[in-house]
Amino acid sequence: MSRMLLVATKNKKKLREIREILKGLKLRIRSLSDYPNAPRIIENGKTFKANAAKKALTIARFTGEFTLGEDSGLCVYALGGKPGVYSSRFAGKGKSDKKNNEKLLRLLENTPSKKRKAYYACAVALANGDGLIKIVEGRCFGAIAYEPKGSFGFGYDPVFIPPKFKKTFAQLAPSIKHSMSHRFRALSKAKKVIQKYIERKRVS
Ligand code: IMP
Repeated sequence: MSRMLLVATKNKKKLREIREILKGLKLRIRSLSDYPNAPRIIENGKTFKANAAKKALTIARFTGEFTLGEDSGLCVYALGGKPGVYSSRFAGKGKSDKKNNEKLLRLLENTPSKKRKAYYACAVALANGDGLIKIVEGRCFGAIAYEPKGSFGFGYDPVFIPPKFKKTFAQLAPSIKHSMSHRFRALSKAKKVIQKYIERKRVS
């Protein structure tokens, strides 16, 4: 019988990427959509790691299940690291991916290509009913485009150009994003911990 991993998110696009990257592990993956009564998590941490740990711990304590918390965002050097942990709510009230991208491009309107460097960061925390097991982080460096292009992915993908490409993540096949993204890098580290956890549980 395969074990279960609960991913503490309701974001369907994020969940799809996580499932794709964790493919191969003998795991049934569930998400918060299967737990409508789960507590709402206030993302008030100052770092991606703090938010990821809060998500994993809150849900693991509530359900008693082996849980993965993920927090991610975009950091732009010219903006002092913004939007950072505020990536999903950058445009404020009535936020949407489109509005977040518009605000970002507006703030970078007069910024030349050399100064448009940015990176995506992703923190992944694993926890169970007894507490936190591990936190890992992955980054993907790139640059911010002058206008949004493409329709793959989500969030800032239409304006994020990964290294060695002249196209945005939203223009590139999802398999390319999944081979180099911040989420792929963090989850590759987490995968080893998950594998060990499953094996240990099976023999105990
Ligand atoms: P949270 O981790 O749910 O707080 O939100 C992460 C936010 O960061 C998303 O809503 C996006 O705006 C942005 N983000 C994180 N990862 C990605 C990605 O892979 N592509 C595009 N945007 C991302």
